[in-house]
Amino acid sequence: PLFQRAAFLSSAPDLAATPDDSGFEVAFAGRSNAGKSSAINVICHQKGLARTSKTPGRTQQLVFFRLDDERRLVDLPGYGFAKVSLAIKRRWQQLMERYLERRSSLKGLVVVMDIRHPLTDIDQQMIDWGIAAGLPLLLVLTKADKLKRSGVARSLNEVRKALSAAPVPVHVMAFSAVSRLGLNEAQDQIKDWLGL
Ligand code: GDP
Repeated sequence: PLFQRAAFLSSAPDLAATPDDSGFEVAFAGRSNAGKSSAINVICHQKGLARTSKTPGRTQQLVFFRLDDERRLVDLPGYGFAKVSLAIKRRWQQLMERYLERRSSLKGLVVVMDIRHPLTDIDQQMIDWGIAAGLPLLLVLTKADKLKRSGVARSLNEVRKALSAAPVPVHVMAFSAVSRLGLNEAQDQIKDWLGL
């Protein structure tokens, strides 16, 4: 029950404040409101583990969850904030890019996107940074319960096609925090990256 044991470890406003860079880490990125917190909570079978920030841009911290002595999940600050200043956006970009590039224990990047409108500019930016860092990607198209089966298939195809030439392994999947569609699939990929 690795995921059930997930517990808050620490939060870090910058790289200097992150926990020891050893073992295995998997990070979750996503636009604000995409459904990232809900996905983390479902994957870990815990209702209040990851919390949504109601004021995007305010809590720009990397949040670390401990799974066991050598494994962690990381909740990256949400992006796509309409109302924050350019300075905050730049700070966020720098933090993301540096974390993805420099974190040795980071083994894979999960990008959570709303299945109804995936691959926005800022999603693409996040994906590009992950690719630049050589990270394998898990693209979680969430809120699949909001679409018919045909719409789910269309969105999956669109994203798979867009990423077909990516120079890193890319796994694209449908997910729902409501119906739990894709739960095992997501857990299996993350476990694999965590060396399990
Ligand atoms: P975050 O900002 O990316 O962490 O997003 P949240 O996880 O807080 O979700 C944003 C909103 O979308 C909330 O109102 C959630 O209840 C809703 N939501 C998240 N996941 C799903 C899902 O799979 N299906 C549906 N229908 N709603 C979802």
